[in-house]
Amino acid sequence: MHEYPVTQEIVRIAEESARKYNAVKITKITLVVGELAGFIGESISMYFEIIAKGTMAEGAALEIKPVKAQLKCDRCDRYFDRPRYSFTCPVCGENGRPTEIGKEFYVENIEIIT
Ligand SMILES: [Zn+2]
Repeated sequence: MHEYPVTQEIVRIAEESARKYNAVKITKITLVVGELAGFIGESISMYFEIIAKGTMAEGAALEIKPVKAQLKCDRCDRYFDRPRYSFTCPVCGENGRPTEIGKEFYVENIEIIT
């Protein structure tokens, strides 16, 4: 359920940027959602249709770009996709440490009609 307010925020941010460019309509919003961001893309898409009604973003496409969580192995100095239920580096077996990759949550791009 906490996707609802965050989706309102996305529409607000998109409208704000669209106005800066004197847009009349938003046709597409691209959103980056990390695996660990704590938001479910499908829920955002569902709320988006409802929330966008009556705004500049009504009828706009919402593209959600998922980002997989990455861990970093300090021994190998490399990033790797977090295996399920594990932190183990696929190369050396050392435990990787969490990174910021996978926590992304932001509007990457909007497409508008002016
Ligand atoms: Zn390693």
